[in-house]
Amino acid sequence: MQCPETARCLPAYIVDELVPSERETFEAHLLGCGECSAELASFEGVKNALHAWSDAPLPASAAAHTAAPAPASAPVRTPLAAAARPAL
Ligand SMILES: [Zn+2]
Repeated sequence: MQCPETARCLPAYIVDELVPSERETFEAHLLGCGECSAELASFEGVKNALHAWSDAPLPASAAAHTAAPAPASAPVRTPLAAAARPAL
């Protein structure tokens, strides 16, 4: 990563947190910078893969497993902070 704009603006651009003037400036930069364009394309590929993954249906065995209620005999988990706190 050599282009300083990649680190400075690309993460904010991807999550749409640039103000409009910064966005316009960065989009103009994208047109002329192969490094930033390539980085953006790779992030878009990951985002699309994650989106496709989240839309995939669960296998029937996994869906049945996640729909089952916890057994009544399941132990109640105590938060670590509460367990470590001394009794007063
Ligand atoms: Zn760049």
